[in-house]
Amino acid sequence: MKKSLCSGNYKKFFGGIDKYGLTIEELISVISENMPLIAEDMTLGKLVVHFFAPSSPLEPKGEDRIVVLYENDSGAETEQIFEEFITTGGGKVSFEAYPVKGAVWSEEDKDDIIFLVKNIFAMCGRARLSGIVKKSMSTDVSTGLMNANGYVAAGNRLAAEGRIHEYNAMYLNLRNFKFINTQIGNKYGDAVIREYANTLSAFIGDDGFASRLGGDNFAILVKKERSEEIIKFIGSVEIDVPFAGTTSHFCIQARAGVYDIKDGDLMPHVMNCISAAVSSARRHPTDYAVIFTPEVLYRIMQEQEISANFPAALRRKEFVVYYQPKVNLETNELCGCEALVRWIRDGKIVPPMEFIPLFERNGSICSLDFYMLESVCEHIKEWQEKGLEPVTVSVNFSKTHLHNPDIADDIISIINKYGIDSRYIEIEMTEMSDFNDYEAFKKLVTKLKENGVMTSIDDFGTGYSSLNLLTDFMFDIVKLDKSFLDNIVRNNSKTDEIVVRNIVRMIRELDMKTIAEGVETAEQAAFLKGINCTLVQGYLFDKPLPEQEFETRLRSRKYDNIL
Ligand code: C2E
Ligand code: CA
Ligand code: CA
Repeated sequence: MKKSLCSGNYKKFFGGIDKYGLTIEELISVISENMPLIAEDMTLGKLVVHFFAPSSPLEPKGEDRIVVLYENDSGAETEQIFEEFITTGGGKVSFEAYPVKGAVWSEEDKDDIIFLVKNIFAMCGRARLSGIVKKSMSTDVSTGLMNANGYVAAGNRLAAEGRIHEYNAMYLNLRNFKFINTQIGNKYGDAVIREYANTLSAFIGDDGFASRLGGDNFAILVKKERSEEIIKFIGSVEIDVPFAGTTSHFCIQARAGVYDIKDGDLMPHVMNCISAAVSSARRHPTDYAVIFTPEVLYRIMQEQEISANFPAALRRKEFVVYYQPKVNLETNELCGCEALVRWIRDGKIVPPMEFIPLFERNGSICSLDFYMLESVCEHIKEWQEKGLEPVTVSVNFSKTHLHNPDIADDIISIINKYGIDSRYIEIEMTEMSDFNDYEAFKKLVTKLKENGVMTSIDDFGTGYSSLNLLTDFMFDIVKLDKSFLDNIVRNNSKTDEIVVRNIVRMIRELDMKTIAEGVETAEQAAFLKGINCTLVQGYLFDKPLPEQEFETRLRSRKYDNIL
């Protein structure tokens, strides 16, 4: 009787292989190295293990491989012990053990062999699990690509090998993915992301790798010589997505922030550069890919500083209302005005275009617009208390408000709080292309109208002008964008002239009013008057005025010698 299980060699064997934190590969190799310690005692001729695992998100290719853990040079008998273990997730690990040439195993010997393989199986299970846990920390389960941890770790490895400067880094953000998700559902959205991930990864091939940072954000590291080609590729990626029995075709466009990695760069810096560049790409009207430069970072830092300063600036009342008069060309009289925000920062006036787009992105615009509305109501009340007859003041409201289901009530309650007549307030909003926004806008217009508040469509003609907008629901005023006038007078565009003339006529027939903004010359004013567009606003009459100056306008409302 060999008593191998109690022998010192057996203890040595297990001592040698029982190491925590080994990967399955490392474990297999230490088992093979240590097998000779016990093989002779156990009269073992050959030990083979077969690992099988079906495909899973963490192991997209699954596993199916046979490893010879031990083989005696003198050969093995053919009679074998076969022991199979089922693993979670539908996998299997099976062992085949053969006695050494000339040996015959007793039942007790066979038990020892089974005991041995059970122990090896348990250790393989542990190693595999720790491998999966490690991998899951660096893998995006939904796509099987690396996640942000994996991306940084892979970049760190390249940096440690001194090869990172051979690569360019890119941060990709998919365009309109939220739209796909809301229109067709999250599950389908996931399938689109998976297909996109596969296509991107296949295109990069061995020249780098892609990772999913989360949501519709991806990051890639790619060999410099392929960078240009990849940027072109991500501009428009065609994919077919099978889902619930059908296949749909999508064209996915991404915005990209690109960083040309320098020798010695570390991953945190690379990440900062690509995120700064993609933020810049996201707001760039034409360029979908922005290459990082120090100016990009400077702009982002400036924006962060502005965002951080907003709440304090609002508390300190640094935002003030300027009023730009609106004029009726039939009477040459003041007939309304538009409230436009100015930020008085360190004694200087910051124009709205330097902060409004940023506040639209970070959501601050909502509190700013309400602050403006409150200030306007306060002024109207003051004018009335001074015995001045107010005019209707239009207040700009960002489309961001359309996500607030209570927006109409919120506006009405502010007007009521100041006890002013709601006919003095008009809400301006720009055209919208999103269907959900369109529906929300419709509700807002209807509710405001019921409460006597007017609404207008701002910048008409610049966006996704749809004639439905004019016939579908009843707002009060259409503000013709300045670009129409510029074209008619500067470029003498007959087509624009016909379009404007007919838009004005149609709007009048639909019982709404048109106002032309950005009127700068007497020639433009004469043209507008000629086509019965009698409401105008522009530098020809007044620039936006501080409240005190506007008060003077309220006292003397005539505009003489204009036409
Ligand atoms: P907008 O609503 O289209 O406002 C008209 C802009 O055109 C104003 O620029 C005004 O000063 C300018 N303007 C007026 N007449 C003329 C003209 O004859 N010629 C030229 N070249 N420009 C003229 P401003 O005040 O810089 O505002 C820019 C934009 O900022 C506004 O465009 C509006 O979209 C946004 N904005 C301003 N105040 C607010 C606000 O309180 N809330 C929101 N959400 N947006 C605001
Ligand atoms: Ca406006
Ligand atoms: Ca406008």
